[in-house]
Amino acid sequence: MKITKIDHLGVAVTDMQAGKSFWSDVLGLQFAGAETVEEQKVTTGFFPVGESEVELLQSTAPDGPVAKYIEKKGTGMQHIAFCVENIEEALEELKQKGIKLIDEKPRRGAGNKKIAFLHPKATGGVLVELCEAE
Ligand code: ZN
Repeated sequence: MKITKIDHLGVAVTDMQAGKSFWSDVLGLQFAGAETVEEQKVTTGFFPVGESEVELLQSTAPDGPVAKYIEKKGTGMQHIAFCVENIEEALEELKQKGIKLIDEKPRRGAGNKKIAFLHPKATGGVLVELCEAE
């Protein structure tokens, strides 16, 4: 598996507007637009930082994964996403290493990128996302 960069840091928020005012108005990051991923019941907002991005995540439904995360752990850093050259190969390698995966096969995330999550139980508590370079 070849990781090429940190693609983004996912931050769970309850209010995208309030989140935006910190990351954009206070820190001066440029807001690059929002997108709703219906399947994941989440609206994502992106703030590019060099080669990486900060991704704000707001749930669109009380039973969405981000809403459940906030219920358990509160708002804040939710996941770290690495860019890999070939996501299928990376997942296969992780399976062979006995790493528990949330997504055995890649699915489509924001920007229609191929993504997959590793189980936090296998990573020391960090929710890790892989996404494939375009
Ligand atoms: Zn993400």
